[in-house]
Amino acid sequence: MAMGPSRIYRLCRKPVYRLRPVSTSGMTAIAAPKGVYDVVGAQAQRFDVLENSFRETTARYGYERVRIPVFERTDLFVRSVGEATDIVRKEMYTFTDRADRSLTLRPEGTAGVVRCFVEHHYDQEGLPWKVAYDGPMFRAENVQRGRHRQFYQLGIEAIGVDDPALDVEVIALGWDFLSGLGLCDLNLLVNTMGRPDEREDYVADLREHMLGSAGDLAAEDQERLERNPLRILDSKDPALAPVLTGAPRLRDYLDDRSTAHFASVLAGLDEIGVPYTTCDRLVRGLDYYTSTTFEYTSGSLDAAQNALGGGGHYDGLVEMLGGPALGGIGFALGVERILLACEAEDVFGTAGPRGQVVDVVVLQAGDVGVAVQRLVRDLRKAGIATDTSYGGRSLKAQFRHADRLGARLAIVVGERDLERGVVTIRDLTSGAQSEVNLDNVTEVISS
Ligand code: AMP
Repeated sequence: MAMGPSRIYRLCRKPVYRLRPVSTSGMTAIAAPKGVYDVVGAQAQRFDVLENSFRETTARYGYERVRIPVFERTDLFVRSVGEATDIVRKEMYTFTDRADRSLTLRPEGTAGVVRCFVEHHYDQEGLPWKVAYDGPMFRAENVQRGRHRQFYQLGIEAIGVDDPALDVEVIALGWDFLSGLGLCDLNLLVNTMGRPDEREDYVADLREHMLGSAGDLAAEDQERLERNPLRILDSKDPALAPVLTGAPRLRDYLDDRSTAHFASVLAGLDEIGVPYTTCDRLVRGLDYYTSTTFEYTSGSLDAAQNALGGGGHYDGLVEMLGGPALGGIGFALGVERILLACEAEDVFGTAGPRGQVVDVVVLQAGDVGVAVQRLVRDLRKAGIATDTSYGGRSLKAQFRHADRLGARLAIVVGERDLERGVVTIRDLTSGAQSEVNLDNVTEVISS
């Protein structure tokens, strides 16, 4: 018999494969595509906790919310993220629509936000334009723990003003959000990537150093050095580690203005007490980064997926997308990675969301449908999360349902009790129960 797998996202365990038999109609079930997953129950509540906390933090820092499209014209990403990047070369979900236009599911958020800024002339309003977004991103990557093909990011962008104090604000916001969740094992890495003109001499010297000292480079590193030389600094190849340690430092190639900018950023972080480590080899995978770059990592995750998020300045991007010569800075954080770190540090503990769907379930013993409908409606109107059961199930099955919904209280409505105008309220944790006048139920439960 053919089986169809369906995948449910779990934090610590491997994805669960549920086998579904062929249905009675003879149709096999359709599995979700590789690299995507369903978020349900307590896990969905954890996503909400993160997103709500991020919305609250960004609002407190004066960032307006934006919702940008999930797909854009392909050239937007090719031009901004960069033709030489892994994302554009190998990972984009690109398709043509019915009018033969090439469109791409967004692999990241910055390009769309900057496109929005340029298209709607937000440069003519008070600057910086500070916005926050959240939502799914799509990259056809090798799937592993903490790496998916549809994943969720939380991000901010501050566009239009070049001021080290703004860099400090952006970096501190990410730090405050992550530590505000209760994460303790956090690291902040900071670097500066300079301007493209400052990088030219550096890249030439880096290439020379690598080719001179590294002997035979692996084909992949050789290709990187050709195509996107800064990314060689990111190489995880242990054989390259000693050579990379002795590699020239981009910081030594910066002019006074860039050096002063970076020094001000570090001084600002010192001033407000955000701890950081400078990291000369921190280069980020998107071409548009310039000047300050940073990454938040978790010490409680394996090195392969310890980056919770990162970002940096993008000083040529607005102009590259047809706007004025204004810079910007922002970051994106990965929701799945943050949840993995929360799990590793037991941030949610027993106080966290546990999949409770409702507080109260109204159970029906006998023919009491109309009275139950009225009671459920009154409770819901009074702000009490309430459900009931449908389909005339046995009382035992209804109690099981109440349990599955994580309800705190069950209200049993019986035919004979109704004649006396009473119902029974049972505490599902302690088992204690009491009879309550039907007219007083909402009041008793709310008290
Ligand atoms: P990036 O947009 O590449 O700078 O990534 C920012 C953050 O998004 C990373 O640090 C991860 O936390 C998260 N992220 C990036 N790609 C993926 C992916 N394929 N699956 C899950 N999270 C991802």
